[in-house]
Amino acid sequence: STITETIAPTTASELVRRARRVMPGGLLGSYAMPSSVETVISHGQGARIFDVDGKSYIDYILGSGPMIVGHCHPKVVEALDKQVRRGTQYYTLSDTAIELAERLVDAIPCAEHVKLTSSGAEATFYAMRVARAATGRDKILKFKGAYHGHHDYAMTGSGMSTAGTPAAVDQTLVTATYNDIEGTLAVIADNAADLAAVIVEPVQRNTPPRPGFLEALREATSRHGIVLIFDEMVTGFRVHLEGGQGLYGVTPDLATYGKAIGGGLALAAVAGRESLMDHLNPRRNDKSGYVYMSGTLNGNPLAAAAGIATLDVLQESGAFEQLVTVSRRLRDGLGQTLTEAGVPAHILGEGAMAAVLFAEGDPFDPATAAASDPTLRSRLDAEMIERGILVNLPAKFYLSTAHNEQDVDDTIAAFGESLAAATK
Ligand code: PMP
Repeated sequence: STITETIAPTTASELVRRARRVMPGGLLGSYAMPSSVETVISHGQGARIFDVDGKSYIDYILGSGPMIVGHCHPKVVEALDKQVRRGTQYYTLSDTAIELAERLVDAIPCAEHVKLTSSGAEATFYAMRVARAATGRDKILKFKGAYHGHHDYAMTGSGMSTAGTPAAVDQTLVTATYNDIEGTLAVIADNAADLAAVIVEPVQRNTPPRPGFLEALREATSRHGIVLIFDEMVTGFRVHLEGGQGLYGVTPDLATYGKAIGGGLALAAVAGRESLMDHLNPRRNDKSGYVYMSGTLNGNPLAAAAGIATLDVLQESGAFEQLVTVSRRLRDGLGQTLTEAGVPAHILGEGAMAAVLFAEGDPFDPATAAASDPTLRSRLDAEMIERGILVNLPAKFYLSTAHNEQDVDDTIAAFGESLAAATK
């Protein structure tokens, strides 16, 4: 009752109209729900999210990943409540920020030091800047189709176009194809003298690394003095408690984390080897190598409190294993449904995520994911949302420790019906 009392008495269609009056496209960012079901969220609880019209959904968007222990986990709420009463922003050091930094250094294989930022895009931006400062080189190798945030150096050359980036930034990017070991090694060899870094998502969107791919990147970058950056924004604490580094046993020089480590508040991080991270140290002796970094909300105590509580829940004995078991049940059920329906598809996803690709071909080839029928996927989204399952199928199913077997079974049943409706 306390929740419903705080909800303004209005409807989704009225709110959507109001959003269109004051925000471009009536949207927060680039994500839009299928227009037939556009809805407005009022609150979340556990694995569920509720809209202002009172409809309940099993939530697989999970705030685009951060809500890995579900909405309003009691431990997260308690930690936030305690911190709110101590103040929400200091700018200077806090016990909360220091504790989160320690927790990240303990959990992340490559992390000797960390710096906290407010968003993932900032983290990849700083990782690239550190790599340039450390090597005295300008260029970054990025994989086509990878996403590392919205800034110019991350968007250019990725195959995801945006207007408004300076043409000159193009000159700082070199691209290769994810999982193409020989091709990538050739690009690295050709550009070795100019390359500051190779940045890679250990699992690129949903495509897992071909055996030997990450190892080959590690070997070639070490040999040429190039900084290897893992962007673990999605994979961190989600494919494995030690991220892609733990799952695949390859340790990068730097890594960027976000989403789960902020527990649903604005927090991300750059982590890595002390010698590289020291470029971010304003007290360093060699001032010429100093990489300026600042942000009003860096290490915000409220966000850090949510992050610590989230890691507490995830790292409880057996919690992550159970999350993976439930996620695997979803992957298996989706796969079986597609097989029975005779629809050619791949089910991808490691750890606590799942993705459906409507395409045949090599699942390690990123072209397979790129070829997945986008019309079918967005039609399915609408059918699923109608049936009380909130998912962004062109991206993936994100799962949380709050999702149970019944949720997953209901989801598989709804997927079967949605598939029939969308392909009829
Ligand atoms: N890197 C990856 C791999 C991501 O998935 C994202 C966000 N989806 C980012 C970077 C950017 O993070 P943010 O949206 O917090 O800026």
